Amino acid sequence: MSLRVRYAPSPTGLHHVGGARTALFAYLLARSAGGTFILRIEDTDRARFDPAALTDVYDTLSWLGLRWDEGPHVGGPYAPYVQSERVERHRAVAGRLIAAGSAYRCYCGAERLQRVRAAGSGYDRRCRNLTAAERRRHEERGEPPVVRFKVPLEGATRYHDLILGTIERRNADINPDPVLLKSDRFPTYHLAAIADDHDMRISHVLRAQEWVSSAPLHALIFQACGWQPPWYAHLPVVNGADGKKLSKRHGSMSVSEFRRQGYLPEALVNYIALLGWSLDGSSELFSLDELERAFSLERLHAAAAIFDAGKLRWMNGTHIRSLPAAELARRLEPYLAAAGAEQPQRAAPAVAELLRERLTLLSDAVPMARFLFAADLDYDGAELVPKRLDRARAAQALRRALDLVDTACGGDEDAAERAFRAAAGELQIRFGDLLMPVRVAVTGSRVSPPLFGSMRILGAATCRDRLQAALARLDATTPDP
Ligand code: GLU
Ligand code: ZN
Repeated sequence: MSLRVRYAPSPTGLHHVGGARTALFAYLLARSAGGTFILRIEDTDRARFDPAALTDVYDTLSWLGLRWDEGPHVGGPYAPYVQSERVERHRAVAGRLIAAGSAYRCYCGAERLQRVRAAGSGYDRRCRNLTAAERRRHEERGEPPVVRFKVPLEGATRYHDLILGTIERRNADINPDPVLLKSDRFPTYHLAAIADDHDMRISHVLRAQEWVSSAPLHALIFQACGWQPPWYAHLPVVNGADGKKLSKRHGSMSVSEFRRQGYLPEALVNYIALLGWSLDGSSELFSLDELERAFSLERLHAAAAIFDAGKLRWMNGTHIRSLPAAELARRLEPYLAAAGAEQPQRAAPAVAELLRERLTLLSDAVPMARFLFAADLDYDGAELVPKRLDRARAAQALRRALDLVDTACGGDEDAAERAFRAAAGELQIRFGDLLMPVRVAVTGSRVSPPLFGSMRILGAATCRDRLQAALARLDATTPDP
């Protein structure tokens, strides 16, 4: 039997890392076994459906590189299964369950249900044993019923979880008679997911641990339908560093927000793969390709995973440094545009090389590269004077640097360094004290990417202008005390 795994998000809010982790594991399981990865949009809760969230699912999955294999629509860019297109089928399954005596129509109005709920232990099964006459009376009043599943009152239900082992639950402890079909004739998750898992011949369901408590109910519904259930694996909870379940409190955890902040999809994929899975307990860096080969269900853990934002940042820097030069350049383009580059595509290769070792996030390039594209630098003239020098000596250093601009910008950094060291010797100042005023003059800050590399990108003419401007600024600065 071929392995078929689905990811079944409900588009109700931005796609978050927890959902992305479920998607990734489902994808990896399918890929690792030459199986099929299926995307199914669970959008039958019409009140909570959000079209922007749907777009976000598509965008983030394709950004992460998780492509699904199958769907009912041929040709379109996005062709997953969409649950709301299948409601006729869900209604038919509900009808079959009613005919078989495994489900029944409930006519209790919202008001009554609210009262029952307020009293405590869920639905009181009032409509489970209506007489034919009672049922007819309700029907005549035209009240739209819901369809409820008849949870057996006795016995117990077992199912086997691939991570958690065998789980058994007394049927009496299962939520009494959950709704399968709502009064708007849309299915609930329980009905739609089970009918679809069956129809799509899903072999493995990987899903969040919050669904563990529904699993015995699902086993019962499969049984009532006379269908073979898939294998289940409930993935470990993801907690924040404080040990509490990941939530807004820990900052935005939406995939699109990570993307906006300048994380690489490679890094996010790598990091979330380790939230509940490990190869050998020590290997940490994986490409998606490697994960596709290495992944196995046996190496999933049951214990909660900790989302460590610092680790993710570290991993992002590591992945940035291992991108091919042209690729890093391409990804930096939008950030260079944000930094003021008029021709980001042209500037990107050199800037990528300059910044590669310093970036943790792609967006770090914006503040780091701004000086390269600015018409005027904005800094305090006092910054030009190192602690060990005075104004006159700082000016002397800048004038000396003006003579060396061509060497500094020439592209041979060793030669540039030799020339500046020799100049520092002549001026009888430290190399660092020569470089600092030059750095401030050229980049606007005492902290910058490598100086000669920066000067090379700026070009000799701009460097000369900036050194001149710095000299003028020194003159205008209040004299030494
Ligand atoms: N639509 C459900 C959710 O987003 C899917 C649960 C499942 O995978 O069965 O949580
Ligand atoms: Zn009822």
